[in-house]
Amino acid sequence: MDIDLDAPGRQVGSVRFAHSLDNDAWGADLVPIISIRGGDGPVVLAEAGNHGDEYEGMITLLELARSIDPATLRGQLILLPAVNAPAARAGRRCSPVDGLNYNRCFPGDFHGTLSRQIAAFLYHGLMPRADIFLDLHSGGSSLEIMPSNTVEVAEDPAQTRANLDGAQAFGASHAVFVNNLGEPRTATAAASRRGLVTIGTEMMGGGFVSPEALATCKRGVRNVLMHFGLIDGVPERAGDPVVLTVDRSDAYHLAPHAGVFERRVPLGTEVEAGALLGLLHDVFAPMTEPTELRAAFAGTVYALRHPAHAEAGNCCIVLAEAGGPV
Ligand SMILES: [Zn+2]
Repeated sequence: MDIDLDAPGRQVGSVRFAHSLDNDAWGADLVPIISIRGGDGPVVLAEAGNHGDEYEGMITLLELARSIDPATLRGQLILLPAVNAPAARAGRRCSPVDGLNYNRCFPGDFHGTLSRQIAAFLYHGLMPRADIFLDLHSGGSSLEIMPSNTVEVAEDPAQTRANLDGAQAFGASHAVFVNNLGEPRTATAAASRRGLVTIGTEMMGGGFVSPEALATCKRGVRNVLMHFGLIDGVPERAGDPVVLTVDRSDAYHLAPHAGVFERRVPLGTEVEAGALLGLLHDVFAPMTEPTELRAAFAGTVYALRHPAHAEAGNCCIVLAEAGGPV
């Protein structure tokens, strides 16, 4: 790392991951990092570009890096606006270097491939210094997700409660317990295990920048900084968030065969069990009626496939149930 995290003020630099290639024997892959250190206070570690095609969080952290005045900051911000740098350079979800999904690489491995090395640096190098972790996602190129906070479920209910309180401090309209069916290898699962107040987001997606979701993301991050006392100001929140949960495998409505996906409901719609959510058209079987994708249970439409083209097994619709574990 070419900056000193213990030094006061604003520092902008890179974390260097040695990456020896045919055209670059002793070079490195550079992951941008910004430290803004003011007076005494909590340490907020924030990453965007966990997936390289999720943009609202990147813009939010860039703006924060430029605008926060270390002279008035109580605590420290450690910002990684393109943490999965190879994926962010390529505008792709997964790293083109090793093909891995960085968000399935925790706790990482310093002797593993690049995505695992970046995860290990976060897990062992940065998370132990931090009190609060912000992981700013959107739906990426393949999904649109209701702009919302995600909440990590921990073994200790007090930690789960702290994560929900963090989401409430962020102040999106919905707080959604999404634990990827118990997946322990995500950045948020790792941070929560380390005891950090862990706050995730999903801010639309589809590979574009949603102005509304970007505004929610910018406002939410500043709300968190106000809530934990790092900056002055009055938080602007949507009110008490609606709490939802995605934790059953049939929440993920997958395409049973290849086809053209036609959504029949907008994001955020509350539906009954059996409601028609979408159609899958087989353009190579003209006389076949489209396959109906119907709600497996009563819930809220949390995510929708963005590209119409779908292969068998592609995720078309995600439903969330009302309520949460705490
Ligand atoms: Zn993501």
